[in-house]
Amino acid sequence: MKPPEVDRAAGSRAAVAARRARAAIKTAVREKRRSAVGVLDTAQGHPDSIEAGMRVTDLLQAIPGLGPVRIRRNLDKLEISPSKRLGGLGLHQQGRLRSYLEQRAPFSVSGPESRLVVLAGPTAVGKGTVASFIREKFPDVSLSVSATTRAPRPGEVEGVSYYFVDDAEFDRMIAAGEFLEWAVVHNHHRYGTPRAPIDAAIAAGNGVLLEIDIQGARQVRAAMPEARLVFLLPPTWDELVRRLIGRGTESEEEQARRLKTAEVELAAQNEFDFLVVNNDVEAAASEVVDLMNRRIA
Ligand code: 5GP
Repeated sequence: MKPPEVDRAAGSRAAVAARRARAAIKTAVREKRRSAVGVLDTAQGHPDSIEAGMRVTDLLQAIPGLGPVRIRRNLDKLEISPSKRLGGLGLHQQGRLRSYLEQRAPFSVSGPESRLVVLAGPTAVGKGTVASFIREKFPDVSLSVSATTRAPRPGEVEGVSYYFVDDAEFDRMIAAGEFLEWAVVHNHHRYGTPRAPIDAAIAAGNGVLLEIDIQGARQVRAAMPEARLVFLLPPTWDELVRRLIGRGTESEEEQARRLKTAEVELAAQNEFDFLVVNNDVEAAASEVVDLMNRRIA
């Protein structure tokens, strides 16, 4: 049976969008902004992800130094058909491809060491969870504590989660030049990163992690070009919506506002130095810390 005209139009639009998204992933891997193993992880964990729909050949083409002949030869050795999609690999094939990618395309950082890593990404992608994991498991990484004009949520601790300040105090901090960056987030409250603790941590040789929004990330880039900007991605858009709604701590109006912000924020991923997919908190946290050239405690 032929699908109705509207469905076909929507279907072809979806196909075009998926092709574009796959091309963007290839570019990110080629530019070493995203790890090839991370792409495989997402495909394995999320059958509905764009990654799952990528051909193994396409992923290998994105790895610098691999031409068509070598790809053929390697796929032969891995016993994987060139037309296979990442989401359609058997367990053993996944294992063989993973070992191959770990060896052939490690996600390492070159260039000068940077102690400052900015973790940004769309709302509810899990930045806070990844940051908390890092705070717990990597004690030599300092987490920047922001000031905010929003009220504390249940369980949040003054001086640990945030410094909760009123508008007058926030104004004073701006006027005194105490912020490395600050922004109005979700068109609502103000959030800012105090500069002094960051300078102190860097002077002491510690890594510093900033978990801030994208406008803040842009300001840090301008103020400190050596900072590494990491964008945390959800495995799929559906997953992001699930997380956003699942938190259940915000009103419907606030959720809608955050969803809109998330959409705009996702579009900004290409401005970032590295893309990390939050398939699994521990793996994502390790990837972020690796980018800081720090070791596991
Ligand atoms: P929440 O209110 O859920 O704790 O945070 C809302 C958003 O504000 C998150 O996207 C978080 O990354 C961002 N944010 C937290 N602290 C800062 C900050 O100091 N500066 C900027 N620009 N954004 C921040």
